Amino acid sequence: MTADLKQPATPPDAAWQDDVRAGVRHVRDLASLPLSPAERAAAQAAAAGHKVRVPKAYLDLIDWEDPNDPIRAQAIPSPEELVATEGELDDPIGDHEFSPVPRLTHRHADRVLLFPTYQCAVYCRFCFRKESLTAIGRGYTREALEPALAYIAGHGEIREVILTGGDPLSLPDKALAEIRARTEAIPHVRLLRIHTRVPVALPSRITPGLVAALQGRLMVTVVTHFNHPREITDETEAACRTMRQAGFVLLNQSVLLKGVNDNVEVLEELCRELVYRLGVKPYYLHHGDLARGMAHRRTTIAKGQALVAELRQRLSGICNPTYVIDLPDGGGKVPLAASHIEGCEGGTWRIRGQDGKVREYREVVG
Ligand code: SF4
Repeated sequence: MTADLKQPATPPDAAWQDDVRAGVRHVRDLASLPLSPAERAAAQAAAAGHKVRVPKAYLDLIDWEDPNDPIRAQAIPSPEELVATEGELDDPIGDHEFSPVPRLTHRHADRVLLFPTYQCAVYCRFCFRKESLTAIGRGYTREALEPALAYIAGHGEIREVILTGGDPLSLPDKALAEIRARTEAIPHVRLLRIHTRVPVALPSRITPGLVAALQGRLMVTVVTHFNHPREITDETEAACRTMRQAGFVLLNQSVLLKGVNDNVEVLEELCRELVYRLGVKPYYLHHGDLARGMAHRRTTIAKGQALVAELRQRLSGICNPTYVIDLPDGGGKVPLAASHIEGCEGGTWRIRGQDGKVREYREVVG
C-alpha cells in the first residue's frame, strides 16, 4: 500500500477531545480508578477543595501498582491535601496584591500576567493558584478581558504579556486567536508568553490549528511544565516538535516536589531529556510555594541547594535550570543556589570552583 492510500489519520481535534472524554473529568470519575475504598473517599474529599481533571494520556502514564508513582502524586487527590499547615497561604506569591484590574497581575514594569481562563486541562495537586481556580474558576469571555487589555494598552512600559491561569492552552483555537490578535494590536507589546501544562498532560491538543491561532506579529515563547522524565513520551515529543517547527521558543519550568523529583538522578534525566529529546531549555526549578495542603510535597531549601549543586557538576549550562523561589507578598523570583563567592578584598575575589576549591580572581580592568 502506498502512503497515499493509507487510511486518513485521526483528525487532530478528535484525538484530543477523545483524550479529554476518556479521562477523569469529575469527582465521580474517580470511582473508575483502581483506588482502595479508603483512598477513594480521601481523594473525593480532597477534590472538593481543588478540582480534579486528568486527561487519558496523562492517566495512562500512572503505574497503579506503585502507591508512590510520581504521575499519580501530581494528578490524583490525596488525603494529605486536606492538612493545612501553619504558614501556608491562599495567595502564596501575592498575585492579588498586584492586580490593578481583574484577570491581570502587574508586578514587574515590563511584563504582566494575563489570566484568560481559570480552568485547566489537568488540575495539578501542587498548584499554587488553586485558591483562585476554586474561588474564581471562570473561563474565557471576550468581555471579561476588556479591562485587562485596556490596562495593557494604557501602559506603554509593558513589553511582555504572559498568558497563564488556569491553563491558556485549554481554550479553543478561536479564543486563542482572538486573545493573540487583541494583544498584538497593542503596539508596545513585543512578546507573547504562554505558561502551560497542556504539552505534558494533553499533548494531542497541540494541533496545527492551535499553533496557527498563536502565530502573528508577536514572538511566542511557550513555557512548559514537565516535572518528571516519565512525562516525556512520543506524544509530548511530537507536541514540542510541532511548536518548535512553528518557530516558538520552548522553555520549561519544574517544581521541586518531595517524592516526585527531589532526587538528583531524576532531575538529571529530566533536564537532559528536555534538551536532547524535546528541544526545550530547562529554565526554572521552583522551590515549592506555600500553597495550602502541600507541606507533604515541599522539601527544605537546603535540600534543593544540595540537589542543584550536584546538577551543576553533572550538566552543561544549557541543561541546568535556575533554582528559584517566588517570594510571598509579590517579592518576585530570586535565585536560591548557594553562592560561590567567599569574599572580596582590594579587588581580589575568592570564589569556590565546582571542585570545591577556593581560587582567587583578581580584577584587571582598563
Ligand atoms: S495547569 Fe497550572 S494553573 Fe492549572 S492546576 Fe496545573 S499548575 Fe495550576
